[in-house]
Amino acid sequence: MLPFKLVYSDDYYLPIGAHVFPAEKYRRIHDRLLETGIAEAADFVTPQPASDQDVLLVHTAQYVQKLKMGTLSAREELEMEVPYSPELVRAFWLAAGGSILAADYALQNRVAINVGGGFHHAFPDHGEGFCMIHDVAVAIRRMQRDEKITRAMTVDCDVHQGNGTAVIFAGACIPGKALPSTAASVVSPAAPTRPRNAHARDVFTISLHQENNYPMLKPASSIDVDLPDEIGDDDYLAWLDNALSSGLHQFEPELICYLAGADPYREDQLGGLSLTIEGLKRRDQLVFRAAHARDIPVMVTFAGGYAQRVEDTVTIHCNTVIAAKEIFESKVSS
Ligand SMILES: [Zn+2]
Repeated sequence: MLPFKLVYSDDYYLPIGAHVFPAEKYRRIHDRLLETGIAEAADFVTPQPASDQDVLLVHTAQYVQKLKMGTLSAREELEMEVPYSPELVRAFWLAAGGSILAADYALQNRVAINVGGGFHHAFPDHGEGFCMIHDVAVAIRRMQRDEKITRAMTVDCDVHQGNGTAVIFAGACIPGKALPSTAASVVSPAAPTRPRNAHARDVFTISLHQENNYPMLKPASSIDVDLPDEIGDDDYLAWLDNALSSGLHQFEPELICYLAGADPYREDQLGGLSLTIEGLKRRDQLVFRAAHARDIPVMVTFAGGYAQRVEDTVTIHCNTVIAAKEIFESKVSS
């Protein structure tokens, strides 16, 4: 039995036909976790779809209306890069419900994993890059509305920058707070961290991503780490460590939302970084250790993953569960 819950539904499957997004990955992760004995059936909890009221905490009424009525323009549907259907709307509402449930469980058990979600390219008024609505933002706003938390931090390790997250949580600038770690060039030569206006009122956003990749326009997160092509495990982990230290030095969240994208993997079809499967597991451990050491609850979503072999994507996501087990089990026994 795991010391935390896995949120999952067979209906996470995205009905998008033949697509680079492996919509069946969720079920395969679920099955692999059970087959390998990493998890047992009782570790899983089934989410309900988010309510429209929850979704409206992040998205505009006009956009929600278009999604519910099926009245997106051709351009809007093209920009979303997944074919619209009412079934797809239901799948995204369910993923958002899953992230809400995972956030709730994380606050109770210190960690929880949504075996789905991480749709960080959704904006308040439109969808982009396979993302219809922003499940993580919906979960954060719901926790805040219910007064379970006031401050959250997103740690986005998908290979693509979290543009939707940055825009949704862009707030008033906090002046005079330079990033203390930007000069500490653990990696050298050209420091990729952008010490842009670290703005965070109630949600602090961190994104580590490949610079030369979608989205071309990268709205400012609180901390953006623009990584060069083909960065490997050690350099990546050094930058992540740096960003986490800096972020947690500036901001004290009551919940960390970790987007554990599988697409920084060296064999990803939509990514240009060079992390190994082992390196990605070390990445997960690093994030969990940072949260564990400070006693900050962490909610995980899986985000992207487009490896040549879907099996690799499944392995990377399953390793996130193993990493959480390793770090948080030690907590229980201590
Ligand atoms: Zn991605």
